[in-house]
Amino acid sequence: MADFPNLQPIPGIDPSGRLIIAGPCSAESAEQMMDVAGQLAAGGIGVLRAGVWKPRTYPGGFEGRGAVALEWMAQAKAATGMLTATEVATPDHLHAAIDSGIDIVWIGARTAADPFAVQEIANALSDIENKPAVMVKNPVSPDPDLWIGALQRIYAAGVRRLAAIHRGFTTYGNSIYRNRPRWSIPFELRRQIPSLPIICDPSHIAGDSKLVETVASAAIDMGFDGLIIETHPCPECALSDAHQQLTPAQLFELLRHLRHNSSAEPAHSQLLRQYRQHIDKIDHQLLDLLAQRMNISAEIGQIKKQHELSAMQPQRYAQMLAERCASGADLGLSPELLTKLWTLIHEESVRRQLQILSQK
Ligand code: PEP
Ligand code: MN
Repeated sequence: MADFPNLQPIPGIDPSGRLIIAGPCSAESAEQMMDVAGQLAAGGIGVLRAGVWKPRTYPGGFEGRGAVALEWMAQAKAATGMLTATEVATPDHLHAAIDSGIDIVWIGARTAADPFAVQEIANALSDIENKPAVMVKNPVSPDPDLWIGALQRIYAAGVRRLAAIHRGFTTYGNSIYRNRPRWSIPFELRRQIPSLPIICDPSHIAGDSKLVETVASAAIDMGFDGLIIETHPCPECALSDAHQQLTPAQLFELLRHLRHNSSAEPAHSQLLRQYRQHIDKIDHQLLDLLAQRMNISAEIGQIKKQHELSAMQPQRYAQMLAERCASGADLGLSPELLTKLWTLIHEESVRRQLQILSQK
């Protein structure tokens, strides 16, 4: 697969060479947009994001304010000098966004999964003389080809200011992430299209404001070209994605930590910070795996209930423990540690299965 020749930078890259985009999940009112834009611009953020049309999973959810919100974005742009970015899912959205002065449009994860929809947007872009910059989120499913195909359609429409956004992939069952990141997929994109900037959306990966910084710094450590972070003047009042939005002050704190990493901080403390971030990442993976394991053991509990089997199966337990100790020994882990660990894990599984078995 060939690279995309002659790409040009997305506007709004900051002096450190990163593209930092921030703003609310949804544009909710003129006041909210002016408030958040004023705070972000004062903190040096160059690009304001907001959703105008929101693809909601269930009917009846907040579907965005629609075209009127574009006027609020234009007002915020005029007042602060920020560039503006919004999601488009149809040619009508695209035309309305461009007519109101939006600088960057992005194709959302659900739309990116639909080649018909992407092609319609690409056809509309072909006919536009002053093309906006375009960012394409990864499709909801972990399919690098579908993502690359969507980017190819937009590139073929003549768009040269083009970027990709990793926002994680749909998860089913318990996960600490709302959309689990699969870093190997953006890496594959980078391998195939080396000149394409790729930024990370830690807000939609995390789904939880407390996790946003860990994901954002992992992305920057892995060489992503920037971040798009949901930021709201009052996250708990937000009409969509309230759990994952940061306040402007929290965003600035997060960015200060990132800048620290590449500043004149002594080498040993930089290294320490990087190792700790790595440990944080691994611990979050362990948590995620533990939650997945408990889910599966609940499924097993259902089968045991149907077939009137007992929750505790001593032979299976003994085999499992012996196998884990032997495999762990190959990795330099002591049988004492592994026995303690798997005794706890297994006890919790059995406790959960007993709950299921006792349900009427
Ligand atoms: C968004 O950025 O607000 C959004 C809806 O994102 P995604 O398409 O990644 O779900
Ligand atoms: Mn959102």
